[in-house]
Amino acid sequence: MEDLTEALRQWDLRMSTLPEKGRSLFANKDFFPGEVIIKQEPCVFVPNNSASQARCDTCFSSSNLKKCSACRVVWYCGSSCQKSQWKVHQLECRALSRLDEDKRKYVTPSIRLMLKLCIHRKLQDERIIPSTATDNYRLVEALVSHMSDIDQKQLVLYAQMANLVNLILQWPNINIKEITENFSKLSCNGHTICDSEFRPLGTGLYPVISIINHSCLPNAVLVFEDTAAVVRAVQYISSGSEVSISYIETAGSTITRQKALKEQYFFTCSCPRCENVGKFNDLHESAVLEGYRCRDDSCTGFLLRDSDNRGFFCQRCGLFRAKEELKELSNKIRTMLDRAVTSTSSAQLEEAISIYKMVEQFQRELYHPRSIFLLQTREQLLKMLMEVEDWKEALAYCRLTVPVYESVYPSNHPLLGLQYYTCGKLEWLLGYTDGAVRSLTKAVDTLRVTHGTSTPFIKELILKLEEARAETSYKLKLPSERVTVL
Ligand SMILES: [Zn+2]
Ligand SMILES: [Zn+2]
Ligand SMILES: [Zn+2]
Ligand SMILES: [Zn+2]
Repeated sequence: MEDLTEALRQWDLRMSTLPEKGRSLFANKDFFPGEVIIKQEPCVFVPNNSASQARCDTCFSSSNLKKCSACRVVWYCGSSCQKSQWKVHQLECRALSRLDEDKRKYVTPSIRLMLKLCIHRKLQDERIIPSTATDNYRLVEALVSHMSDIDQKQLVLYAQMANLVNLILQWPNINIKEITENFSKLSCNGHTICDSEFRPLGTGLYPVISIINHSCLPNAVLVFEDTAAVVRAVQYISSGSEVSISYIETAGSTITRQKALKEQYFFTCSCPRCENVGKFNDLHESAVLEGYRCRDDSCTGFLLRDSDNRGFFCQRCGLFRAKEELKELSNKIRTMLDRAVTSTSSAQLEEAISIYKMVEQFQRELYHPRSIFLLQTREQLLKMLMEVEDWKEALAYCRLTVPVYESVYPSNHPLLGLQYYTCGKLEWLLGYTDGAVRSLTKAVDTLRVTHGTSTPFIKELILKLEEARAETSYKLKLPSERVTVL
């Protein structure tokens, strides 16, 4: 691990082991918002390919794809992508080619990630590919597996998957127990590789990034540049402080967040946000994010349960809502949501949109105006309306989500920046230039911190903003033309 210490020192970082958290990453200098803390290429990665969606195994592109002619499992967009992965794929290809055609459908992305990990290790052992301070099997060995925390059913599944890996590779002396444990390690240490707009593309293993602990109020963010993981500071991090990122969606009550962390990562978070659990601020936050609205439409107070459990009282105006009324409304919404999900999955978009609009109306009656459930419905409507190219209505829902994003996320949060971006794009498309300038400016201010300034994604955003600004100043120069202020 001395090599790792040295490699981290070059990034002005150090690793420490904390009794309650295990391995943790610390800053050895001050980091400012937007500054890259560490960047790492994955030691192994795969695209999330399915029967309906294929991506190049190297660059995740989805155009000009050709299947590898030998194994007929893996896709590439061209010969340079194929060549760059050949050392690993050569062994994988040989193993997959031996497999009966009908068994190849069991070769899921998770199985392939493990096949690649086994091959990667073998090639490093044989010195065919280099072992480095930040990419070697000892780092994989050091990852936590939580074997004692996972339930029996999951354990059996991992063991079956390890057997399949063994069947495919057919190597002598393969350690099935170790592979079973590695599946568990990948489940809590693997990272979903996303594009700049946080759409999932694949999965990768980044053993150094895995050292970074979670916080529900993180000081850094993890984004991807192609397949490289990049951690950037979103707050000022003083020398000697721990670097933290978020493993989960942080817009949720403490109970919801803790449940998600326990289920997937097997720990109880003790970050500054979680430490407030049960205190007034935390109750307030939970009641806004996941609680009910006041019976008076004009009141934005939050509701807390009364002591005899008959219902909820508004903490601002004192109005009461009975449990039965809330329950009835909840049931109505649940039935409608089921219908909406069915019509979305059967691709009856127009029908799904009208059902989600009804859901939104009832949720507005039930939940607090800044509720995340209401937000999720509006997000869904925004997505579907964009699919059917109803830009005007899409913008209306997008604008409803922005204030909620602003209240649930801290200022340098990538999802907040992306929401400003969507809003700006829609405004630009509809010719609302001034609104577009305002939204795109906010998008640039946030996303330059989280995504840096050099990627094609940000360059395109900055270009759009410049275009919108140019158009506004052009309009200002024309005295006869009225500038619409939105
Ligand atoms: Zn490619
Ligand atoms: Zn192949
Ligand atoms: Zn927390
Ligand atoms: Zn009230």
